[in-house]
Amino acid sequence: MRPVSRFLAATVFAAVCFAEVPIDWTAALNHITANSLRGHLSFIASDLLEGRDTPSRGLDIAAEYIAAQFRRAGLEPAVKGSYFHESDWKVHEARMDGFEMRLTLDGKAFDIKPGEVTVVSSKGFDLADETVLVPAANPSAAEAKGKVFFSTNKKTPSSKLREGASLVVMLDPKGAIGGMLSGSKPFRDKPDTRNAPAILIHSDDIPDSPKEARITLRLREPEAKPFAMRNVTAILRGSDPELSKSYIVVTAHYDHIGMMAKGPAGDRIFNGANDDASGTVTMIEIADAFSRLTTRPKRSVLFVALSGEEKGLLGTRAFIDNPPVPVSSMTANVNIEVLGRTDVEDTVQTRKLSVTGIDYSTLGQTVITAGKDTEVEVYKHNLNEPFFSRSDNLVFARKGIPAHTVSNGFVYPDYHGLGDEWERIDFDNMAALSRTIALAILRLADDPKAPVWADLPATKTYREANKK
Ligand SMILES: [Zn+2]
Repeated sequence: MRPVSRFLAATVFAAVCFAEVPIDWTAALNHITANSLRGHLSFIASDLLEGRDTPSRGLDIAAEYIAAQFRRAGLEPAVKGSYFHESDWKVHEARMDGFEMRLTLDGKAFDIKPGEVTVVSSKGFDLADETVLVPAANPSAAEAKGKVFFSTNKKTPSSKLREGASLVVMLDPKGAIGGMLSGSKPFRDKPDTRNAPAILIHSDDIPDSPKEARITLRLREPEAKPFAMRNVTAILRGSDPELSKSYIVVTAHYDHIGMMAKGPAGDRIFNGANDDASGTVTMIEIADAFSRLTTRPKRSVLFVALSGEEKGLLGTRAFIDNPPVPVSSMTANVNIEVLGRTDVEDTVQTRKLSVTGIDYSTLGQTVITAGKDTEVEVYKHNLNEPFFSRSDNLVFARKGIPAHTVSNGFVYPDYHGLGDEWERIDFDNMAALSRTIALAILRLADDPKAPVWADLPATKTYREANKK
């Protein structure tokens, strides 16, 4: 090698040179950069995509974009020549023509306009000056049953009250909770009616602690609109003739919670840059990096960008019900969630990665080792821990597949807020974490030994599912 080219090689690998990592892998991992992640994320979390609600046009655009990236990386389409895993769903769309709403609070009437509300209901209403239960009356769940309930605490009322009431009217002037409930929940056969219908009022003018309330409401039956839920999925085929029939499943949800009916300062869009455009673009970049390997790992890697997570892990459930490869061939699942913010939990947290349920299976150790080799601390995070059973990995775990979520902090200032924008992402840190995750996945895919559940009470259900 002539001095000049040695110098060039040193420059290329100077930024990230990993101990214990083959040169071919290091070269591939170094394709994951702050700029490559920023490029994808600034599009997927852009206002144009309107918060990627399930279903929405913005979500469809994101799906096409992800498919285009898989196509660019030359990955195999996972579903009969297509990158789209589709399932049939319906969603209730509120019909706002003829909408009338009058709240009478302590004798004063307030007329609410259609543009001031978010309606989440699977049925219509025709109420004429009916009594509304107010929190001042301190109703029990039994008293709230079948009644219209007025929420004044600017928070979601307790689930017991929501379950029993016939309708919940909530004040949400700042849109702080709008995103939690925006849109109706999609359904396959019958709508989920466990929670009472809700009307969120985005107005500053309504008093928030009346002693007496009445409601007049005309709301038409919603329309049940059919749509196809789309997961985007592709295969990087492994190099071993036998092991390539098994899959490390890498997932991230690309949906978010959409838009609110009205918002402060004109911003109505929940961009979901961290949740979970960050995981989605990390997955895109990992797929691209792996496509550059001279020798691919032994097992195949199945990439899945999941839809409907925010509506209750719906895309994952549909995926596992009708998988493109047999469930028995899925060796492990690495789910990537919220990876971009370093301003978490009132501190600045860099080069730290948590794995939910880290001691539940041997997979945790693989990520810890990958962390050591890439100078990222991988640890058990008590605040993130509950997300083991609240994230898409759970659906795979319930099938017995060792499945975990990697994240750097679920608890951050703009969680499900209007401020979850791509400009607030720390892309340098995210690139470091992405390379750690990529290395762990490479090792899982290259190891003839599959990860196994640890013998713990917490893993009992998953171990038993594994035997089936
Ligand atoms: Zn998420």
